[in-house]
Parts: sequence; structure tokens; C-alpha cells
Amino acid sequence: MTLHGKTAVVTGGSRGIGREIAIALGARGAYVFVNYVSRADAAEETIGLVRQAGGDGAIVQCDVADFSATQEAMKEVVGQAGSVDILINNAGITRDGLLPLMKEADWDQVLDTNLKGAFNCSKAVVRSMMKKKWGRIVNISSVVGFSGNAGQANYAAAKAGMVGLTKSLAREFASRRITVNCVAPGYIVTEMTEALPEVAQQKLIREIPLGTLGSAADVAAAALFFVNDEAAYVTGQTIHVNGGMYM
Ligand code: NDP
Repeated sequence: MTLHGKTAVVTGGSRGIGREIAIALGARGAYVFVNYVSRADAAEETIGLVRQAGGDGAIVQCDVADFSATQEAMKEVVGQAGSVDILINNAGITRDGLLPLMKEADWDQVLDTNLKGAFNCSKAVVRSMMKKKWGRIVNISSVVGFSGNAGQANYAAAKAGMVGLTKSLAREFASRRITVNCVAPGYIVTEMTEALPEVAQQKLIREIPLGTLGSAADVAAAALFFVNDEAAYVTGQTIHVNGGMYM
């Protein structure tokens, strides 16, 4: 697969899964805009890794939960690059808690970042894809959007919402040869899951048929599949990357 001449935006590309996707896209020739919200150092580090992999890119700061800031930032990206061909809606946060203890702000922040963020970014770049009659949008959902999870009502609702968003956008833009798909990771080793206590991690591993947590590279491989020209006839779908924990 070659992505030479294509421009990609990876939201939340400064760390974890997003970083790995950025490197994978860069290694195949895409020019990668690595979005971040606060960790410019980490985003620069990702660009360094993209270059080491033979690619190139630039960092782009914006809080994807902020509609106006996202439109501005993506307008600059489109201005610089001419178009955005590939959008990976990966930026995400958790604010866990059982419902009686969950604050309104926990609900709002998680929905605004994970779900509205994907809306904000897709809206900002889809016109440039429509003009080119080619585009790839990949939304990073989660296993808990399918299974539910006690203590993650906000996160599971946002991630399930991304699936509905994916299918609707897939229908809206199919005639323009823009595909929209989802990757639903299970438990992947990143800073997000390293925060879990060791006991909780061991309990999780026992629930995974393949017997181990996944890696960011496992998720990047699934995202790359959708971006590939050979996946041109695949839209509105989800690849589950979860070691079999949810089937
Ligand atoms: P990390 O916590 O390691 O990284 C989160 C990334 O998102 C960072 O790059 C961060 O930027 C960015 N980010 C957070 N909030 C915003 C915002 N408002 N605007 C822009 N960027 C933001 O996360 P993971 O790599 O673990 O997760 C990536 C995605 O995969 C998420 O959507 C997550 O829900 C999903 N996922 C992860 C799983 C896992 O097990 N790790 C399982 C299932 C799904 P900065 O560096 O500036 O803070």
C-alpha cells in the first residue's frame, strides 16, 4: 500500500494508539498532521517517530471538543495541504464512575471529546474529501460501546454513538467514494489503561481469550486496512481488535 500524496489527520496522535496510527500512515507515505490538546512535546516526539519511519508531518493543536477551535485548526490544515484525505478520529478520554457518583461534567467532557469531537473533525474536513471524490474516515470506538461497562456509562454511550455516526456518514458520503468505518479496540496497553491497578489488569486478562492486552500496533493495523485502496468497497463497518473478549 502506498499513501504518497495523501494528507492524514490523526486526532490525539501525540500518544498511545493515535501515535502508532500516525507512524503507520507516515511509513506508507502520507503526510501526517498529528493533533494534540496539551502535550506539544509528545506530539513533536510523534513527528520525530514518523520521520524515523520514513514519513513526514506536522503538529496541530486543538481541543476537538471545541467546535470553533476545531474548524479553525482544520481550516489551516486544509489551507496548508490542499485537502485532508484521511481522518482518524482517535482523540478520547475517560472520566469513570458509577452513575450515582458521576458528575454532569464527567458526562459532558467524555461525550464532547469522544463523540462530538468526531463530529467536529469530520464536519471540518469532509468538504475537501467531497471535492476530491476520495476520502477515508476511521473512528476509534471501543469494545465497551458494544458490551457496556459498569462505571463507564458516559464512555460507553460515546463509543456506541460513534458507531451510529460511522454508519450514517458512511451512507451520506458513499456516492463521493468516501468510506467511513470504525475500529473497536479492547484493552490496549497505553497510558489510558496503565492507570488501571495491577489487580484490575490481571482480572481483565483472564477475560480475554487470547490471554493478553493488545498493543497500539494491533489497532493501527486495523485502521490501516480501512485506509487501504483495497478496502474501497468496505464502509460502515467495525473491526473489533479485542483478543476475543467480545464476539
Ligand atoms: P491516551 O490517553 O494514551 O491518549 C489520548 C490522546 O488523545 C492524546 O494524544 C491526547 O492528547 C488526545 N486528546 C485527549 N483529549 C483531547 C482533546 N480534547 N482534543 C484533542 N486531543 C485530545 O489514549 P489511548 O491511546 O489509550 O486511546 C486512543 C483512543 O482509543 C481513544 O479514543 C480511546 O477511547 C480509544 N480506546 C482505547 C483503548 C485502550 O485500551 N487504550 C480501548 C478502546 C478504545 P495530549 O497528548 O495532548 O493529551
